[in-house]
Amino acid sequence: MLRALSAAALLLATTAPALAQNSAPQPAAFVDTIPEARDMAYPGTMLLDVDATDTQRGIFRVKQTIPVTRTGHMVLLYPKWLQGKHGPRGEIEKLTGLQISAAGKRLQWKRDPVDVFAFHIDVPSGAKKLDLEFQFASATVSNQGRVVMTPALMSLQFNSMSLYPAGYYVRRIPVQARVKYPEGWSAASGLPAKATGSIYNYEKTNYEVLVDSPVLAGRYYRPFELSPRVTLDVFADSPEELEAKPEQIEAHKRLVDQAVKTMGSQQYDHYHFLLSISDELGGIGLEHHRSSENGVSLGYFTKWADGAGDRNLLPHEYTHSWDGKYRRGADLWAPDYRTPTRGSLLWVYEGQTQFWGYVFQTRSGLVSKADTLDSYASIMASLDNRKAREWRPMGDTTNDPVISSRAPKGWVSWQRSEDYYNEGLLIWMEVDSILREQSKGTKSIDDFARAFFQGRDGDYGEVTYTFDDVVRALNAVQPYDWRTLLDQRVNQVSQRAPLAGFERNGYKLVYTEEPNKATSKTTVDLAYSLGLTLGAKGITSVAWDSPAFEAGVDLGDEIVAVNGRGYTGDRLKDAVKQARGGKDPIRLLLKNGDRFRDVAIDYHGGLRYPHLVKTATGEAGLDKLLQPR
Ligand SMILES: [Zn+2]
Repeated sequence: MLRALSAAALLLATTAPALAQNSAPQPAAFVDTIPEARDMAYPGTMLLDVDATDTQRGIFRVKQTIPVTRTGHMVLLYPKWLQGKHGPRGEIEKLTGLQISAAGKRLQWKRDPVDVFAFHIDVPSGAKKLDLEFQFASATVSNQGRVVMTPALMSLQFNSMSLYPAGYYVRRIPVQARVKYPEGWSAASGLPAKATGSIYNYEKTNYEVLVDSPVLAGRYYRPFELSPRVTLDVFADSPEELEAKPEQIEAHKRLVDQAVKTMGSQQYDHYHFLLSISDELGGIGLEHHRSSENGVSLGYFTKWADGAGDRNLLPHEYTHSWDGKYRRGADLWAPDYRTPTRGSLLWVYEGQTQFWGYVFQTRSGLVSKADTLDSYASIMASLDNRKAREWRPMGDTTNDPVISSRAPKGWVSWQRSEDYYNEGLLIWMEVDSILREQSKGTKSIDDFARAFFQGRDGDYGEVTYTFDDVVRALNAVQPYDWRTLLDQRVNQVSQRAPLAGFERNGYKLVYTEEPNKATSKTTVDLAYSLGLTLGAKGITSVAWDSPAFEAGVDLGDEIVAVNGRGYTGDRLKDAVKQARGGKDPIRLLLKNGDRFRDVAIDYHGGLRYPHLVKTATGEAGLDKLLQPR
């Protein structure tokens, strides 16, 4: 290979004459003329009028009025950096048909060539307001983005439906919204509205609250009161999916009760779980101050007995009411949607939310303890077998929302993904175990949660924190060298995942031949034996440096035959069992496009699935943690 390269270089050197001086330009000057956001009141209230009745084609038609008091250069912005998405994910490509006029005259707009979410205009003298008209042409199929409108359901996010003036903190821009929904539909949101038929007039608020108050609407709707201040708003593809049993609603009530008991305050006036049960509307899990958007698959209530399903989602999103929405990493807070946010503390924002999500699902009885233990084992095994931890510290994955915007990855075990979620969970389990040990059982992470997340009841603003604040809060609960521990876990590379918290809390990760119940039933999971997983359409993951990787198995390969016989998942598992302790490799015939090839996997360790087993006697730390309060 090296020889071939140098031969090519030689050839190049002899045929291309060397230039004394290549052409060498200077960059074209560019001056950013978009005003910085300032903490001052915008003079006047924006009016937003959305026609959301075209459910067939998913087109939202918007009219917007923006009052103006000055003439000359002005910039209108489309929200770009969206809270909760942790990245620049505004769907600017779907903003169409933009027309801006003032005093009856059409104005010419010019898009900023660097920030393509910004539109420059020149406000003529005599103008009192700008009249805007545009459409949000939402995804018609899922490869264009999340499908937000179907014939029976709609997920309306105001950041997609509006522009706002640059130069102001968004909390200082007053706005009033009105939405027309299809006849006979209902709509729910954290923002109160007065409905007249299918027209909803939303309470006047500021632009930050409006963007934080999405709407879930649909033809089939059923609300459930979970507490005097919390509502579960369920929408679905069909009325049968709304048939929740009383004991299922009771479990959701206990979720609210357990979370409030733990955190101590309620950071909202009223909270709405906006739950869509659908296989048509795009899935979602997005936190807000007074609501959360929760998109789950069909069967949420009707296939309850089949296992935990999507029941971790609501506990996770509800935890964000305190962790993420109310308490927020200082560098993740921004005054508008143009200022880039930074995620250095996402291992608290998402990591501890992931931690509490699993605790609350168990304390409430939404998910059984046995199923939660299997989920923990699956998380631990996945991170412990992630070779990428040798080169990439977990903290670096907090940049992933910007690096990859949730696009699928090939070699996840060598690239890492947004590991701050689940590895954050492991770190907070370690913190809990140290709190218990150092305090001789008198303190736990519940004390930290109360100290760190409890706020003024009803306050749905934000209180920001830094790394130092986290260390200080932990030290106030129990003195320890938290700074060194957290710095190691967040910033250093390591061979192994931080599993010590579970071990100190009395449980150990083991591998047995018994399948892990947290794994999807449609997946053939051989991640910890051959090092691969298979979906309906072939191989979906190959673990870096695993036996399958060493044998040359590729992502996207289909297995045609196993040891000379046609492939089935069970036949492959049988072959792994048969090869245990033997010498013969497992032979696979692989297909990729119209190419076929044989590989031999030299693996003799048998089937291996992750589980947690109790090592402690009596009630262990983890048992105490998962007990209802
Ligand atoms: Zn989250």
